[in-house]
Amino acid sequence: MAYRSWLECVRGCEARHSIFDVAYQCETCGGLLDVRHDSEALKDRSTAAWMQLFDRRTRTTEWPYGSGVWGKKEWVCPEVRNENIVSMYEGHTNCFWAERFGRELGIEDLWVKLCGNSHTGSFKDLGMTVLVSVVKQMIADGKPIRAVACASTGDTSAAKVSTAQLIQPIANGALVLALDADFDGCMRIVQQIAQDKSVYLANSMNALRMEGQKTVAMEIVQQFDWQVPDWIVIPVGNLGNVSALGKGFLLMKELGLIDKLPRIACAQAARANPLYLSYQTGFREFVPVQAQKTLASAIQIGNPVSYERAVKTLAAFDGVVEQASENELSEAAARADRTGMYACPHTGVALAVLIKLVDRGEIKHDDSVVVISTAHGLKFTDFKVGYHEGTLNEVIAHHRNPPVELPADYDAVQRAIDQAIAR
Ligand SMILES: *Cc1c(COP(=O)(O)O)cnc(C)c1O
Ligand SMILES: [Zn+2]
Repeated sequence: MAYRSWLECVRGCEARHSIFDVAYQCETCGGLLDVRHDSEALKDRSTAAWMQLFDRRTRTTEWPYGSGVWGKKEWVCPEVRNENIVSMYEGHTNCFWAERFGRELGIEDLWVKLCGNSHTGSFKDLGMTVLVSVVKQMIADGKPIRAVACASTGDTSAAKVSTAQLIQPIANGALVLALDADFDGCMRIVQQIAQDKSVYLANSMNALRMEGQKTVAMEIVQQFDWQVPDWIVIPVGNLGNVSALGKGFLLMKELGLIDKLPRIACAQAARANPLYLSYQTGFREFVPVQAQKTLASAIQIGNPVSYERAVKTLAAFDGVVEQASENELSEAAARADRTGMYACPHTGVALAVLIKLVDRGEIKHDDSVVVISTAHGLKFTDFKVGYHEGTLNEVIAHHRNPPVELPADYDAVQRAIDQAIAR
């Protein structure tokens, strides 16, 4: 059976494109495009057979199926030839049982999907492998693509903001242009650059990214022995990732692998909260905001490209949107760290929102909850150092743990240890 996918308008216009066309928006209405799969063809395998296949491939070394993304190739990008796949075997990240943090909040069934335990230290790997592989095939097939370009707050290009983020594309030989603009400003310019169709746009308005990122939904369900959690809490900025998450669940439901959907809670930084403000109006109004500087730099976005996609997702998943202040996100991350995590500021936003939703009884104590941790804490060392030095703006750090400075003296060391243990 030949599996097929194509691009179509998120607003339901008729026109279709090949996934190998350089197209990001609907020519009729200007809406974004999404990849659609021939789900009738995918029904040629039983749900049990799909589950078995996916489970078997999580342990395989056979190229490229050991990748968390390419292990689901038929559902992700069936048309790409294996020789064109560019993969670091991304995905298969641990879903961590946050037993201690959960106990503090009174939820036993709390899990953190550690998407930052990956090559670039963020979930962006999942989408990029698909996009770059498709571009490789386009070039192999004679399409005149000269370059791939993206605007980034840091993780998309793997640029600016934290040194750990900026250095990755530099090391890998990318041309890194540091513009005197915020993400929204960079996004406007890169869209203009990509009007030249030989420069392929790699931001998440590009539907191919969603296809890789949606595998996080499959992985979560697989990690729960094909059970669906009650809630997923996810930090959001440009709103691509939450839309991808939703796509993953909807495809599993359509193909019968699951029979219910989780509820989704979108977590925004209060300093960059256009979705939250729109949610307050019941999504009747959407006003882009000027994003203010936030520690959660990867979600410092005021005009999210995938707004429409996300609103559809929230409707399908009985979703909620909540926000977190700089103090709330920092404190939540620090509390989580005290229980063994090493949370990046975006994960801090999600954890702070989790705390609010539990406090107001929206998330119940016996609900099962998965928090999406979008990046590794090690990419945000300045955030951690600033917290423990007590130098972050607007943050009152209750969990500071500065090092104790001592002379090189046995008695002084012994006393310090005794005092700490006695506390
Ligand atoms: C990209 C990113 C996000 C936000 O994802 P969107 O698709 O822009 O909503 C959140 N956290 C981290 C660490 C990211 O890199
Ligand atoms: Zn359209």
